Amino acid sequence: MKQDLKPGKIRCDACPVMCYIADGKSGACDRYANQDGTLVRLDPLTIVQTPDRKLVPFMPSDREDPWDGDIIKGARPFVTAVGAGTTYPDYKPAPFIVSQDIDGVDMVTVVTEGIFSYCGVKVKIDTDRHIGHECDVVRVDGEPVGHVTTSEYGSKMLSLGGVEHLTGGSKKEGRVTCDALMRLCNREAVAMAIGEAGDETEVVVQAGQPPIIDGVTENLMRVGCGSATIGMFPKQWIGHVDEVVVVDDHITGVLSEHETGKQLKVPATGIKIKGRRSTPGRYFQVAEPGTGWGGTDIDDPLTILGPFNPKMAWEGLRLLMVSTTGEQYAYFELDADLIPQIKTVPEPLKASADLIAENCEPSVCSVLFMGGAGGSLRAGVTENPVRLTRSVKDSLTHVSCGGADAFVWPGGGITVMVDVLDMPTQSFGYVPTPALVAPIEFTLRVSDYKALGGHIGHIRSVDDVNRNAARHVAQNDSAHDPTARRNFRWSARG
Ligand code: SF4
Repeated sequence: MKQDLKPGKIRCDACPVMCYIADGKSGACDRYANQDGTLVRLDPLTIVQTPDRKLVPFMPSDREDPWDGDIIKGARPFVTAVGAGTTYPDYKPAPFIVSQDIDGVDMVTVVTEGIFSYCGVKVKIDTDRHIGHECDVVRVDGEPVGHVTTSEYGSKMLSLGGVEHLTGGSKKEGRVTCDALMRLCNREAVAMAIGEAGDETEVVVQAGQPPIIDGVTENLMRVGCGSATIGMFPKQWIGHVDEVVVVDDHITGVLSEHETGKQLKVPATGIKIKGRRSTPGRYFQVAEPGTGWGGTDIDDPLTILGPFNPKMAWEGLRLLMVSTTGEQYAYFELDADLIPQIKTVPEPLKASADLIAENCEPSVCSVLFMGGAGGSLRAGVTENPVRLTRSVKDSLTHVSCGGADAFVWPGGGITVMVDVLDMPTQSFGYVPTPALVAPIEFTLRVSDYKALGGHIGHIRSVDDVNRNAARHVAQNDSAHDPTARRNFRWSARG
């Protein structure tokens, strides 16, 4: 992987940048360095210890403590691509092609740190608060890095990165995008601005942590929309209040008009809600999106009410208004002019708001890396790359990223998506082309590897991997064993 072309320097050929690196220095990506004239990968190879049904000896047996203290005893090694290095150009075999016997089956794992020009992250932010409209641009350090995409239930979604920003814009846009993606994937906090200048929302995103929106740390994800909340908690309210409004930017619910209220025989109250009526007791667009009650821009819930109908309302009518997270609530009683007057919240109604809050899940940010091993990366696995794609689609080859389960998209190519929290820490790097460097492993039977034209001559036993220099991590609880039989179609045949 090196050539001596300049005195005192070696040339790294692990990516198209082809850095000349002086002794004691590292290359542009900080992943490779010149150590006494030898090109070395600076981060250790990472081995995941997967729970084993049948122990396979891995560490030398003559050591007093063969597991080196930080390893889960009784676990079997899975050599991940984290720290494995890259081969470039792509026709060369992957850095590690590792075989081991798994329950009597000869398996091989092809391990490489892929250079992904086509990649990005999908971010799910559990919040009702308005962070931007669909298609609003997301900026980091003033550079566009992605956009707001379709909201999901109780969550806002961002689509960040991709070639459009990595290579399709200015040099600075590409560099900032690459850096933001890498930090997000390595679980670091990234501050971003969403929307037009002067009307931006500042959001800090970090995988596994609550979002910080305009300086406020989000606490809870809503229990459901306003309509769903009416349907979930009516029995907490009947007998204690005459009307309930659950304020929500999506669907605001009204108990007396809702089918729930009808079935529980809640009398009409003559309430009037501003907004577009959908079906009975369900209203859209009661206010603008914002960071107030239920993801609207209001701080005073009465602003969404019109005058009560005097033919139906009565003096003393009891009204509870509550948000979809139960964090905001207020209690009113109508005076002689049918105007709501705020009162102390009765204890049972406070308990109902607390119950809504208790049923809300903590708000977190989820970061999923998405990348395509569409063409070149596959050549490090086989001389006939399309056969690898077919093998993956045929469930003969299992794809993992840093040992974590990767969802493989249907259709052409090998486009994967993986939760960065399932991966070992510091799994991601970059090269200044710019592109993200991410681990990817292909696991299959040796016989299948032969059949698809794999680099058979480069297979080495897992026992030949320098395990003393490796970083050993426990497998994530939520991840499957990448070598487990159930991952493969042939296991169905016994
Ligand atoms: S950027 Fe990194 S991988 Fe690419 S040539 Fe330079 S040191 Fe090697």
